[in-house]
Order: sequence, then C-alpha cells, then structure tokens
Amino acid sequence: MSRRTKLYEGKAKILYEGPEPGTLIQYFKDDATAFNAEKKGTINGKGVINNRISEHVFTRLAHIGIPTHFIRRLNMREQLIRQVDIIPLEVVVRNVAAGSISKRLGIEEGEPLPHTLIEYYYKDDALGDPLVAEEHIACFNWASNDEMHDISSMAIRINDFMCGMFAAIDIRLVDFKLEFGRLYDGDYSRVILADEISPDGCRLWDMATGEKLDKDRFRRDLGGEEEAYREVARRLGLLNGEDNGPGEVFDLSHARSRLRGPPPLKK
Ligand code: 5GP
Repeated sequence: MSRRTKLYEGKAKILYEGPEPGTLIQYFKDDATAFNAEKKGTINGKGVINNRISEHVFTRLAHIGIPTHFIRRLNMREQLIRQVDIIPLEVVVRNVAAGSISKRLGIEEGEPLPHTLIEYYYKDDALGDPLVAEEHIACFNWASNDEMHDISSMAIRINDFMCGMFAAIDIRLVDFKLEFGRLYDGDYSRVILADEISPDGCRLWDMATGEKLDKDRFRRDLGGEEEAYREVARRLGLLNGEDNGPGEVFDLSHARSRLRGPPPLKK
C-alpha cells in the first residue's frame, strides 16, 4: 500500500492528492482556531459534522446552478473535490451586524443591515487577513473584473438560497465566509465555489432565542460548541434519524452549565 501525498495542511483541513489528475481529497479535522490562530483548541466530532454539512450545502447549491469544487463525500471526514487555484480572497456576506463589522464601525451586534453587504479580505495570515477594496483587488491583480463580477453575483445567490434554507429550520443566517477558485480548461478558466460551508465560517443564530450555533461559541468561550454544531446538522436532517425527533427541544443551557455553573432558577 502506498502512502498518499499531503499537499497542504490548514487550520481545519488537510488536502491530499486525489485519485485522478485534477482531483484532491479534503480531510476535515476537529482542530479549531480563532483570532488568526492565537487561540487553538479542538471541537470533538467537528470534522465529521462539517464534512456532512458542507456536502449538504454544496450539493444543494449545485442544484440551483452554482458551480462548486465538490464531487462527492468519501467517508466520515473526507470528500473528493476538484483541484482549483484558490483566489486569495475571503468573501464575507453580511445580513446582520456582528463580529468585526460591529467592532470596526460601532454597530450593535444583531442590528439588521439596511441591505446585504459583501466584503473582501485578502487571505494572508501574516497580515491577519486585512479588509480590502475592489480597487486593491484590481490593482494587485488578485482577481480580474470578470471574475469579481462572477464572485459577487454567486455570493448574492448563495446568500439568498442559504437564508431561506436556514430560515426553514429556524436559524438566522447572520453572515458567512466563502472562498472561490479557478478551474482551468485549456487556456480558459472559470470561477467556482471552493473550501467549505459549515458553522466554522458562518454565524448562525437560533431564530427564537438568539442562541449562537456556530464557531463564536469557541471564539467567545461560550461552551457547548459540539452540541451547537450537532444541532445545526440535526435540524438540516443530517443525523440519520439518531436524534431527529421533531419534538426535541434544543437547550444549550445544559452544556453551558458545565462551564459556568447551573443556569439561574426561573421564578
Ligand atoms: P468577521 O469578519 O465578523 O470576523 O467574520 C465574518 C464571517 O466570516 C463570520 O461568519 C466568520 O465565521 C467568517 N470568517 C471570517 N474569517 C474567517 C476565517 O478566517 N475562517 C473561518 N472559518 N471563517 C471566517
């Protein structure tokens, strides 16, 4: 048996050479990092859940005509993907103020934005992924005007689709991060959706309680991150019926109590 070739190891995923030219295997780890890897930890079972959630979202996006790198899921932690040349931008779509925009502009978290915002961050760990304008992207040739047109129109379609998908399971899609890559065909290339879509790169709030069901639980030491990720998968119907009971009430207070003591008694 030959050992497969590791091509890249990131904070949450590993890329291995795929079985055919032009393919890769994307492996989902349980490792979690935040604040440009200043904070490190693990979320048990995260890789398995994110692999399933990302498969689900990418498959459904393909059904509405969004081209993606996803080919098929191989096992619990791995999926077969098309090899692309990653465009060095993090494309953040925001519906509601939270996180860095709230800090930067002093907008209260939870304030709905007057309209959907798309922001671009230059992917560079050493620089801490700085926010950049489209002028920078054109000036430094990180992506062409045609590519930016495709990226922004796909980002809006993805947002519309995902807002509906999550609203149907009582989750508010606050914001999320996308990455795109170039797929070459001879001398030509087209832009397709790459990376992953999972609670690692989305802000997902329970519609009724506002409870956070995403990586902010880890970033902000809220506890209950495993339960939150599982809850997103459960509501999407991805847990093979183990605990998909429609009457099940979601309660993170139990997980939280492990960190902070018991919740206050109701009067
Ligand atoms: P913010 O700019 O407010 O920190 O993040 C906006 C959204 O993009 C959040 O949903 C956050 O999870 C996602 N995001 C931004 N940068 C990264 C990143 O480097 N990795 C991941 N996984 N998500 C990110």
